[in-house]
This record gives sequence, structure tokens and C-alpha cells, in this order.
Amino acid sequence: MRFAIFSDIHSNLEALEAVLADARAAQCLRFVCLGDIVGYNANPTECLHRIQELECPVVKGNHDEQASNDSSTSGFNELAEEAIGWTREQLSREERSWLANLPLTSPVGDFTIVHATLDKPNKWGYVFNDLDAIASFAHQTTSLCFFGHTHWPMAFIRDDHVQRVAIDRLQLTSGKKYFVNTGSVGQPRDRDWRAAYCIYDADQQVIEQRRVTYNLAAAQQKIREAGLPDRLADRLALGR
Ligand code: ZN
Repeated sequence: MRFAIFSDIHSNLEALEAVLADARAAQCLRFVCLGDIVGYNANPTECLHRIQELECPVVKGNHDEQASNDSSTSGFNELAEEAIGWTREQLSREERSWLANLPLTSPVGDFTIVHATLDKPNKWGYVFNDLDAIASFAHQTTSLCFFGHTHWPMAFIRDDHVQRVAIDRLQLTSGKKYFVNTGSVGQPRDRDWRAAYCIYDADQQVIEQRRVTYNLAAAQQKIREAGLPDRLADRLALGR
């Protein structure tokens, strides 16, 4: 079984559709969404409907939570806040309550999924270094867990110590634990503008990092036409 596992779509429909097409061409039969379907870009409703149509496992991201609230409860920066206010207005009551009811973590097959961290999934901490990963590993009961939130693809591997590696192609070994960030579909921040996601081949026990080009100009134009801040369009081209 091959899983397409993706995170941080952030209302970028062009990027999401490119990822789904790439995954289908690569024989992925199951899809898994790690949250932050909405926020930042211009197609929240369309992205939400695409995910619903997949009928796949989904966990909640912090932007999903903020979009489902009537007003903001946590400290978003100015740019994120402006986009989330606009996003709230685009979504129906039903769509917002669907986002509100997403779980924070979920088991899928032989692995676990979470948006931010396993130690405090509702606090939306960022896992960038070994110390952050160690805290999450302490709560990881499956050998493999996928997460998002940082928009940086990377993997942490724990055996007698913890190391951080780039994914590219990662062969899993029994006896180790893996905490894997798939990167972001709709707003990568690792200086590569292409949409990021992972394919997990459960039979081969291999994780592959994929990067997919998409119609960037169309996504940027929609952001400008929606009246969202120009900087949100500009950053997509920079991958940050
Ligand atoms: Zn995000």
C-alpha cells in the first residue's frame, strides 16, 4: 500500500491539485492530510471540498482551528491574521464546524499523524531541532509518525540518540522511531517554491520526498484579486 501524506495546503488549490495528480500517477491509493487546509492563500472552500471528497484521515492544524473560531484566540502574526479573518468570511458555518471537529491526532494503519507535536498537540509548538523532537518521541507509541506545521521537510530518527536528516528516500529499519515532516503543499518555506509531500510505501517500508511544480502565477493572481496582502503572493515564489 502506498500512501500520499501531505500537510499545510493553506488554500492553495493549484498546489493541492498538482500534488494529488502526482500521487495518483505514482500509484498512491490512500491519502492522508496533516492539517492546515486553510489560511494564507485564496481558495479555502475549494481546498476544503477537495479534502472532504478524498474521505481520508485528516488532523486539525492551527489555521483550521483559528478559521473555525469566531475570533482569534492565539497570537498569529499580522500577515496570518489578515488572511485568517478573510478566510473566516469565505467559509460557511458547516465548513467551519467540520474544521472545528477534526481530531488533533489520529492512528492510520501502522503509523500516527499530528499537525504540530505529540507531547502537546493543542499548543502548536514547532519541531525544528533534536530537543523538540525528543519531547514528541516520548509520546509516540508507533514507530512512525508524520507531522507538519513548520513547512520544512525533514525527518528525526531515534535509536540510542536522535538525529535529524533530509528525507529524499528514507528506508525504515525496525527498532527505530521516525518523526517525519512532509513539508508544505501550499506554502513551502525551505527556499524551494515547489509543493512538497511524502509517499510512504508501507510494504517496502520506504518514505520518499516529492516536489511538484504547479501553476504558481495562477495562485498568485488569485491572492491579489482576493485583496489579500501582496506579500502572500510574493513569498510563494521564494519558497519562504
Ligand atoms: Zn501551516
